[in-house]
Amino acid sequence: MISGSLRVTRIAGIDIRVHVSWFLIAALFFYLNFETFSFDLPLIPSERIVLAAATTLLFFASVLLHELSHSIVARRFRLPVHSITLFLFGGVSNLRREPDTARAEFLMAAVGPFTSFVLSGSFWLLREVARQTLVGIPGEAVPYMLEQLSFINLALGVFNLLPGFPLDGGRVLRSALWALRRDRRWATRVATRGGQAVAGLLALWGIYQFVTDPRGGVLGGTWTLLIAFFLFNAASASYRQEQFEDSLRRVNVGTLMTRDLVSVPVDMEVESLIGSYVLPMRARSFVVERDGRPIGVVSLADLRRVPRDQWRSRRVGDVMLSLEKVPALQPNDDARRGMDVLSRTESGEAPVMDDGRVVGLFERDVVFEYLRMRDELGLR
Ligand SMILES: [Zn+2]
Repeated sequence: MISGSLRVTRIAGIDIRVHVSWFLIAALFFYLNFETFSFDLPLIPSERIVLAAATTLLFFASVLLHELSHSIVARRFRLPVHSITLFLFGGVSNLRREPDTARAEFLMAAVGPFTSFVLSGSFWLLREVARQTLVGIPGEAVPYMLEQLSFINLALGVFNLLPGFPLDGGRVLRSALWALRRDRRWATRVATRGGQAVAGLLALWGIYQFVTDPRGGVLGGTWTLLIAFFLFNAASASYRQEQFEDSLRRVNVGTLMTRDLVSVPVDMEVESLIGSYVLPMRARSFVVERDGRPIGVVSLADLRRVPRDQWRSRRVGDVMLSLEKVPALQPNDDARRGMDVLSRTESGEAPVMDDGRVVGLFERDVVFEYLRMRDELGLR
């Protein structure tokens, strides 16, 4: 999730968040509309405020609808969307994982620009209707407002179709390459390079705006450079994420899990566990038992969260991860599914069960250690 955002509402189980950069855009957008609404019509300030605010809100709703369309299609393919963040240049739908097929990716990506084009057309039609029905001041300003919204949605659709991952157009490109060669990793590499290339071209365009129009170009140029910067970063991060997931898909939970867990009783003090087991045995994960039956697991990560002055007062049972609370993994699940499960729990660990027995613990720390080792050995 992107930091620096706040949750404004929840629609159909999806958190709608607004990033701080959005407020900047909304303020700028409001101001520009406030200024332009009086070009042709003698509007009074209060009318200009209402019109500019309405335009800003409808712009906000348009971006939100674009993102919601992605989410609706994602859900059809059973890809859970946990939040939508409205951001500097549009929105980001935060999926828990990437689509599994090229077709799912294509439909999910294409529906966004499609929605923006439909909105653009609808605002244009409304403008025609408003032009014929509304008379007088300030009614005559409404068609102008609708025209603005039509253009903005058109621009939003076109911009998102640029072939640079993670823009929608980049996803469409990836899905096509993926279907063509059946090699998702290669498709991602090409599409994210596309993202970096689009970012580079945008940066050049931004500089051009600065140079050719020293006064008006500053705002537009800064804006374009900012978008280029974010797109470049997002493309690079997407590529690293793909590499990361790819490495995880090749190894299973059984290989990475911590085995031979020592069993400890549920009422043992945290201090005894650390003093008698963790340090002398350098053991990092334990099965917690009550009356000889496993009821939970506890790891170094859980113990780290207990403040030093509570080691004597807290028991293993207070800090453990209860087996009922986490979905169990199987040894032959791939590690990517393992990380999926971890992302749904706060704890960074999940028990691995086989035949009703806890056979190991799958830990985020260990996964990262494994990936670091691969990296050090030059394995990709
Ligand atoms: Zn989109």
